[in-house]
Amino acid sequence: MGSHPVSIAAFYKFADFSPEDLPKIREGLEAFASERGIRGLVVLGREGLNATVAGSAEAIVELKSLVRGLVSDPALEFKDSFSEKVPFARFKVDVREEIITTKDLSIQPGSSAGTHLSPREWHELIASDPDVVLVDTRNDYEVEVGTFEGAINPGIKKFSDFGRWVEESGLPRDKKLLMFCTGGIRCEKAVPEVQRLGYGNVYQLQGGILRYLEEYPEGFYRGECFVFDHRVAVDSGLQPSKLYKLCPHCGNPAQEQVSCCNCGAAAVVCKRCLEQPGRKTCSKNCAYHARRVAARPRQNAARA
Ligand SMILES: [Zn+2]
Ligand SMILES: [Zn+2]
Repeated sequence: MGSHPVSIAAFYKFADFSPEDLPKIREGLEAFASERGIRGLVVLGREGLNATVAGSAEAIVELKSLVRGLVSDPALEFKDSFSEKVPFARFKVDVREEIITTKDLSIQPGSSAGTHLSPREWHELIASDPDVVLVDTRNDYEVEVGTFEGAINPGIKKFSDFGRWVEESGLPRDKKLLMFCTGGIRCEKAVPEVQRLGYGNVYQLQGGILRYLEEYPEGFYRGECFVFDHRVAVDSGLQPSKLYKLCPHCGNPAQEQVSCCNCGAAAVVCKRCLEQPGRKTCSKNCAYHARRVAARPRQNAARA
């Protein structure tokens, strides 16, 4: 891993920032990132921050200590990975109402103390108890790229639909529910929500899939792990995906190789888009032209 020049760190922290803190935090991060050549996305809100950032190894080490000071948590965890290229075009701090969107501000994130399992505890529980029920809290396009063996896929398009899915899911109440996501943050809200619906036997994977793969690259996880940057996904060794690109039409992970029917360029498009008119193309622009060409004979016929 040391041969890759770009260090990538993912982290989150629930905090209790006051509204006046937010501009200061934002400006501090922006100044540091511009000075040290860091790129990435930080989602910031009164409830904390959620981020993935990339830069040189030295700059990322310095950023970690800056962030640990900012949130007053010297033990804050970071999920590290590495890449040849910087997987972001720029640095951005995005201020939002929630740092992970549930549209339900009554959920107390991080109120589920005692439910976190370390990757080792998680791995050993799955290995020893055939009765556990694994629940993927991520969106369907993420689950399609990879998930834990035997995990339930809620089939949701966005995380704010997870609570409604649980209500209708009929998940067993007498079994251990093991919930996981990419880096752990969604479970900090998913677990309190599931507990509120009366489930008592709920656990979450501390640090998410990314932390698990650090310790068990050949464990119970299958496929790759979707990430929210230009890498699209990382493999079980946390290396950037060689299988997936982002679909030029919808932005979901794609792996169908096509040659653009408008310009002939090699392109990678997702399965769903391939079924739609004009999308066997390399870009939105080519899709526009391809649809116009397809529509032309009918217009002529109408005129005749
Ligand atoms: Zn697509
Ligand atoms: Zn094209």
